[in-house]
Order: sequence, then structure tokens, then C-alpha cells
Amino acid sequence: MYKGQKSVRGGMEDFLCPFTDMYITQGSKGSFSHQGIYANDVRGKVAGIRYSYYAPCTSKCIKTYPESGQVMWQSTSKVRFANGRIDYATYMTAHDDTMDAVPGQIVEQGAQLGNMGSKGNTTGVHCHIEVSQSKDTSWTKNEYGIYHFNNEYDLDDCYFTDYTNILYGMGGFWRTTGEVPVIEINGSEALDQIIHPGSKVMFDGIFHVDIIKRGTNYFGNTSLTGVSYYNYYNERVASYHWIPLQDFTEVDQYGSEINQDDIVYGGESYVINKNVYTVKEVDIPTNSAKIILNNHAIWIFSAFLREVQ
Ligand SMILES: [Zn+2]
Repeated sequence: MYKGQKSVRGGMEDFLCPFTDMYITQGSKGSFSHQGIYANDVRGKVAGIRYSYYAPCTSKCIKTYPESGQVMWQSTSKVRFANGRIDYATYMTAHDDTMDAVPGQIVEQGAQLGNMGSKGNTTGVHCHIEVSQSKDTSWTKNEYGIYHFNNEYDLDDCYFTDYTNILYGMGGFWRTTGEVPVIEINGSEALDQIIHPGSKVMFDGIFHVDIIKRGTNYFGNTSLTGVSYYNYYNERVASYHWIPLQDFTEVDQYGSEINQDDIVYGGESYVINKNVYTVKEVDIPTNSAKIILNNHAIWIFSAFLREVQ
């Protein structure tokens, strides 16, 4: 990016590459100081020059480590990453000899964030950067004794390289915003089917009632929640795997409501749900979203949810 560059689509900032010229001298999982971590060391056009770099998104200074010219930053809102994910960005920059950030300071997207440098343990002037796609600021040590964030992603999955001159990109799959289109309607992001907390969703499909929980108004469906019959029968799962029936309507296996009496039997009946729900949380490893039905929190595989306006 160049100084002052901004990128906002659908009311949300794109997370930009902080460097105008990018020459990577040590990539992610490198054999020197990046063992087992996603981090890049970046120098500019000419080695040894302390080039400025800029805020990839509007960022707040969380912590500073003056002895290594290191700053932990966090986006002030959720941002869009190059892999299409939408979340907070928590990131570290290091080795700035002229580091003057103070905790609480807010730097607007495109404003100067720091300068490449050699403070701390370095072999030359550069900026060390690593990014967590989350709000988690914890810093843990891996098996090589190197500190890193949780939820770190490789840098080509983090920043958009619009107006970054890639001098040496180390084979990364670098993307510009044009390659991750966002359809805007009246200034807000159109439906992209990337579900995040706050998304409005509907159940997408006709669901088989696999089992009715006796004495309650709950049913189980293995494809929606991924829980086996065995687990249902043995109550080995947390209660949220039971889905309240109230918002569902009985249909035949093709989705028709004609001639249905709304008396639902386990192993026989089919149901649909036409309500709109707000996603409360998402769980990336299981690709599921938490929604509240009749005051009951359940996790649903996002493949069975359709994002709506
Ligand atoms: Zn480094």
C-alpha cells in the first residue's frame, strides 16, 4: 500500500499489505527465527534503508516492547482478510528503532505505523510482522521456543497487496481486492454466504426428524448437528444438540405442507423452518454457527444455513 491508502468495501476495511515495496527476507515457518510460526520479515526496495510502513487497517496499539521496537496492534473493528475471512486483526510489528507508539493510540488505515529497523535480534533492517485473525492477544511459546499468536494465518491469507510492489514474494499466493469481490448494496456488503457473528440466516433444506426427545419438544437430526443416534440415545452430548421443534413446520419429504398434521414422529417426519435467525458465534474448525431457537442455543453446520438480508 501507499501512504494514505484506504480500502473500505461494504462498510468494512480490507486488511492491506503495510509495505509499499515488499522483499521478503524470511518467510513463514522459516528456519531462522520463524520456526513453526506464520511471520514474514520484509525489507524495502534497497537493503538497509528504514522505509516507513502504514496501518493495514485502523488499528489500536495494545502493547509495546521498546527493547525490540515491537508493537502489538489490533483492528478497532472487524476487517476483511485476503482469504475472505471477516474478523478482528491482532498483529505484531517489530524492530522499529524509532518506535514511539503508546498503548491506546489509534492509527487510521493508511497512516504511518512505523519504520523498518534493526532493533532487537535482527540480521538487517526489516519489519517483522505476524497476524492473528482474531481478537485473541495471547502470546504462546511453541516447541521451538518461539512466541506466536493463536489463530495466526500466513500473510498471503491476511493482506491484500493492492499497490504493493512485490519485489520478492517467496511464492506466496498474493491477492488484490479485485480477486476477492464484495458486492455492495447501498453501502453494505451483499450476501456472500460467508457466515460471521451477526449474519442473518435461514435453515436451508428439508430435515428428517431422526428422534424425538421423550417428554419434551426437542428433536434430533444427525445431519444438522453431526451427532450420532448412539449419542442421542445415551445422552452423551451437551443439550444444545437437541433442537426445539416450535419453529419448525411438518412437511412431506418434498417440502409440501399439504395434508400434514404437525404431529411429528422420530424416524418418520420431515420438517422445515422459515424463520430468520442471527448468528451468535461461529466455530471455524467444525464449520458451525451458534443460533438461538426458543431460548435454546444450538450449533448448526453452516452448510445447512443460508445467509439472507
Ligand atoms: Zn521475523
